Amino acid sequence: MAREGILIVVSGFSGAGKGTIMKELTGRHEQYALSISATTRTARPGEEEGKEYFFKSREEFEQMIEDGALIEYACYVGNYYGTPRAYVEEMLAKGRDVILEIEIQGARKIRKQFPNAVLLFVTTKDAQVLRERLGRRGTESQEVIEQRLLRAVQESEGIEEYDYLVVNDELDACVAEIHSIIETEHRKICYNMELLNRVREELRSFSKGE
Ligand code: 5GP
Repeated sequence: MAREGILIVVSGFSGAGKGTIMKELTGRHEQYALSISATTRTARPGEEEGKEYFFKSREEFEQMIEDGALIEYACYVGNYYGTPRAYVEEMLAKGRDVILEIEIQGARKIRKQFPNAVLLFVTTKDAQVLRERLGRRGTESQEVIEQRLLRAVQESEGIEEYDYLVVNDELDACVAEIHSIIETEHRKICYNMELLNRVREELRSFSKGE
């Protein structure tokens, strides 16, 4: 019997290391399918079309919205980011666990559309580490870093809407912890109705002496 796929939202402060965690997680376990978002932000050095993002113009992005091609989208520090619908639906139908690495407005929209989705928030153990990482990344201007820190302050107010808080202190431990949370989610009754109904049916038959 194929397992039902789970939709997993991973959010976290800019600089919390979500990207690295996702690479490790998907590299270690085949069950995960990482959704690639569309965005209007320009590519950072080293980023490739179709790998980190699908890079779109504003017009192209707005057309995707109009066509209903995104399951959610949001504006983040002046740019659009959105999750293409087709890949998510296809992977879930195949029983894969689909990971969306998205910010909080998108997470809220996913929660509404997919009430069984599991929402994880990744943080560092303190804010100082975040500030250092953002500065060290060297890909953003001081102005953008400040906007991202401001956005982190706003996002921190919404963390109670998530199901789990994961601290990215040591990468290996953090990846193992996320995997273990997802494996536990698979044991929820809502993902096991097929098996449950089969056992119920068998029990009924036995009780009737069949
Ligand atoms: P970055 O520019 O650092 O790659 O991403 C900025 C923020 O946008 C991050 O918090 C990231 O999780 C979020 N993000 C990336 N893709 C999507 C998306 O498809 N939808 C939403 N709502 N947020 C996204």
